[in-house]
Amino acid sequence: MKKALLVLLVLLITVQCRQNNTKTTKTTPKRNAQPVVQTASLSYDNFGINTDKYHIRNYRIKKNQSLYVLLKKLGLSPKKILATSRKAKKIINLQSFRPGQKYRAYFSKKNKKLKKLIWEPNGLIFVTFSWNNGKLQISRAAHVENEKLKRISGTIHASLYNAISDQQARAQLVKIFSNILAWQVDFTTLRKGDTFKILYEKNYVGGQYYDLGKILALKLNHKGKTYYAYHFHKGKLNGYFDKHGNSVQKSMLKTPFKYDERISSRFNPHRFNPVLHRYMPHNGVDFAAPYGTPVLSVGNGRVLEAHYGGPAGNIVKIRHNSTFTTVYMHLCRFAHGIHRGVHVKQGQVIGYVGHTGRVTGTNLHYGVYKNGKPVNPMTVNLPSAKSIPKKYMSAFKEVRDRLNQTLSVKNQNNIDSLRASLAP
Ligand SMILES: [Zn+2]
Repeated sequence: MKKALLVLLVLLITVQCRQNNTKTTKTTPKRNAQPVVQTASLSYDNFGINTDKYHIRNYRIKKNQSLYVLLKKLGLSPKKILATSRKAKKIINLQSFRPGQKYRAYFSKKNKKLKKLIWEPNGLIFVTFSWNNGKLQISRAAHVENEKLKRISGTIHASLYNAISDQQARAQLVKIFSNILAWQVDFTTLRKGDTFKILYEKNYVGGQYYDLGKILALKLNHKGKTYYAYHFHKGKLNGYFDKHGNSVQKSMLKTPFKYDERISSRFNPHRFNPVLHRYMPHNGVDFAAPYGTPVLSVGNGRVLEAHYGGPAGNIVKIRHNSTFTTVYMHLCRFAHGIHRGVHVKQGQVIGYVGHTGRVTGTNLHYGVYKNGKPVNPMTVNLPSAKSIPKKYMSAFKEVRDRLNQTLSVKNQNNIDSLRASLAP
């Protein structure tokens, strides 16, 4: 008996609540998350959930049954139900709850508590509610039926956005495109005449475009230089690499924030200090981020200092390697577990923007030290992230060459025929 491969495309839309800041955030879809590819394994269900771990019950929504009623029936406390509906409202349309729709509940084998709930508005799309250590995550996903490989090319006249012909995937493509090449190219300087090519997957559900899949390859001609990024995934290695197999990403983020924050004061070795009224170097960059904005470690490293440091206020200092150290000042508080000696990962929250120490207002002073000397964080040449190791080099070159070939073919039919050879 042949069981079709079921590919679950998980579009994670996590709504996080930040302390001191009620802004809700959407994480970018987890592209690097491994798609759950399910074969005829008995221990996983159609939603990619390990069935050994739960007692599973299937139900259908009854007449006049709201999410509230439904969750109450499954044993959730009114407080938890309220929090769940609040979060759910931001992600899904609760009005689309209809009698007859299926839902499936997963109860812990240990304490019989509800751990997961899957609601199927129709046979194609499903919404997963997961409760993990008191934390709720809601995601929407689909049984992807069809995946198409697309290649577009364009010339920039007004903006990258306008130059992308695929209207369905346009906004997402711009975002991912610029994320991938953000380390090499300042996307605010793209100009008329720059050209690009993108090779990517599109996912279809029920014959309709559902979501953007992976971007497999990128090519950008900018100011007379050509930039490439090839997606490569083998073993634990998963990312974008240039022609030579160097990662296009850096081992350090450009700024210590998830989103762009405005720079209020630049790196300046001869700055007039407005508080002290004398000239003294400004050995970093100040970001005018809102109070309470999470501050991220720009790279993996070890915390050298995390304490109150007089004029610096609450300061965190991180050593990334023998060359680079970064500092973060004026934090209102430190993130949980951040103290001297602990290891941090790139992107980990280390503290929150505040106005402790000698400052005129709320801001983050961010400094980069290269071999102990302050350098301009905005212009310093940062080291590359992991490159393709020797043992994968020939595999990478093969993928790269096939992607190049696909990038340069003329029409969609040829792309379809190359599709098979690109499958991992
Ligand atoms: Zn500063």
